Amino acid sequence: MDYSTNDSKSTSKNKVVAVVGGGLVGALNACYFAKRGFQVEVFESREDIRQAKIVKGRSINLALSHRGRQALKQVGMEDTIVSKGIPMHSRMIHSLNGTQSPIPYGKKGQVTLLRQRLDTPHSAETYSTTKLNFAHKLLNWSTETGAMTFLRAAGAKEEIQADLIVGCDGAFSAIRKQFLRQSRFNFSQTYIPHGYLELTMPPINGEFAMKPNYLHIWPRNTFMMIALPNLDKTFTCTLFMPFDEFENVTTGDQVIEFFQKYFPDAIPLIGADALKRDYFHLPAQAMVSVKCSPYHLSDKCVLMGDAAHAVVPFYGQGMNAGFEDCLVFNEIMDQLNEDFSAVLPEYTRVRVPDDHAIADLAMYNYVEMRSHVNSKWFLFRKYVDNF
Ligand code: FAD
Repeated sequence: MDYSTNDSKSTSKNKVVAVVGGGLVGALNACYFAKRGFQVEVFESREDIRQAKIVKGRSINLALSHRGRQALKQVGMEDTIVSKGIPMHSRMIHSLNGTQSPIPYGKKGQVTLLRQRLDTPHSAETYSTTKLNFAHKLLNWSTETGAMTFLRAAGAKEEIQADLIVGCDGAFSAIRKQFLRQSRFNFSQTYIPHGYLELTMPPINGEFAMKPNYLHIWPRNTFMMIALPNLDKTFTCTLFMPFDEFENVTTGDQVIEFFQKYFPDAIPLIGADALKRDYFHLPAQAMVSVKCSPYHLSDKCVLMGDAAHAVVPFYGQGMNAGFEDCLVFNEIMDQLNEDFSAVLPEYTRVRVPDDHAIADLAMYNYVEMRSHVNSKWFLFRKYVDNF
């Protein structure tokens, strides 16, 4: 199917933008392009969760900061998203002996939780010019013709063309693979030795098991646990730990022993049986930092979000930076009259240094945490001050 206009005089009204990846950044981007009047086709490899019987995957809830809120505001989504979140005014530090000490954020309401990473693609559908194409997995695309090949159900393939391809397909971007074949494309990828695992803390008598308007943190030298509240009064606890340590815990009894040693106050709140079971529900997930440059290929394709810059999560800014990509791109579209041949290089020029700085800050924070393992206070301040 050829959606492209191949007409240099065509306006946004009839140009087609293909957003590949219907995650957080892809969904927001679709809104931005639709608001400008483009025909937007979003291609997402997963099936539509509204029809899915089982929703697979992780359920990370994310801290939405000022940076991300500004980007949502531009397309009128800030209030809707924030109303589905829980404001966090402070961090709550859990020490080994069970005492809890709050450390407030700079400004009240500065950080808000976004509850569910899978909620947003459908917000793009409020624009009549946007179509969401689920179960479309990008296999490849041609830099010469711009043709994208998608894998559909039962192994069928579909070829699609558009005027602009926006790669929002995450840290392992299939769109980015073609960039790797280009001369003078810089790319680096670093896995850190830590992994993460999620556990759920259920409500107690219908109420939150801990104070809700806090980011709860259990700093423990080389590893830590954090807990963020959800609207259903559960907490999602995320344990960050070196893979070596994860490998040492192989039985339910070892899980309890480990928690008794490091997070004793969390055992009755999560529940010993649930802990023994849920710890092994999914293997620990890896975390990767990806940097690349440029973010565009001619006037045909541009990368945004994790596809352009996956960062380790120790700065709480990955999604927020991805949202800001959309905002910055939109501003450049205004400045350069939607001329893709000028907008795309300008976006690379403006955005690469800022995104790389965020990636560096996140990695710096992680490295600092690891190299100061003997200074609990330093470590704890470092993490807590920045998250
Ligand atoms: P993704 O969310 O990865 O979405 C990519 C989409 O593309 C997915 O829907 C995927 O199915 C689809 N896709 C992939 N391949 C294809 C293909 N071939 N064809 C079609 N579709 C495809 N950020 C924050 O700002 N605040 C936080 O508090 C925070 N906490 C985090 C905690 C952890 C443990 C981790 C791991 C990350 C955290 N982040 C946080 C980072 C944040 O999750 C990411 O930056 C954000 O999800 C990036 O959004 P994205 O849309 O670019 O990519």
